[in-house]
Amino acid sequence: MKHCLFCQIARRERPGRIVFEDDSVVAFEDLNPQAPVHILIIPKKHLAGLDEAAAEDEALLGHVQRVAAQLAADRSVSRSGYRTVLNVGPHAGQSVFHLHLHLIGGRPMRWPPG
Ligand code: 5GP
Ligand code: ZN
Repeated sequence: MKHCLFCQIARRERPGRIVFEDDSVVAFEDLNPQAPVHILIIPKKHLAGLDEAAAEDEALLGHVQRVAAQLAADRSVSRSGYRTVLNVGPHAGQSVFHLHLHLIGGRPMRWPPG
């Protein structure tokens, strides 16, 4: 999508610290990290959020999660643990409307989330 912030990062039209890319996803450092490891994994396909994902996107969503696990391993947080978070809508605080999975790790986290 032309004016989408995350589409623009994926297309390198806007700065972003990209840490991984393949045919279907891009991963980059969060601008305002909430933990020592805070990476956003996005599908290259523009989906505004999880509610827009269709049956044909199931493999893509699974791939996004598996890339998160691989990046967690790359950053050596697999053993200590990490969280993947996909915020949807106002109550969850979604602020960018291109589906993105947060990979957060490197410090202990509480549950339930705030
Ligand atoms: P949400 O609240 O929508 O789940 O998460 C949006 C995330 O995108 C936030 O963690 C925020 O820090 C991050 N973010 C917002 N704008 C930018 C940007 O221009 N570049 C990067 N790398 N991250 C951004
Ligand atoms: Zn987009």
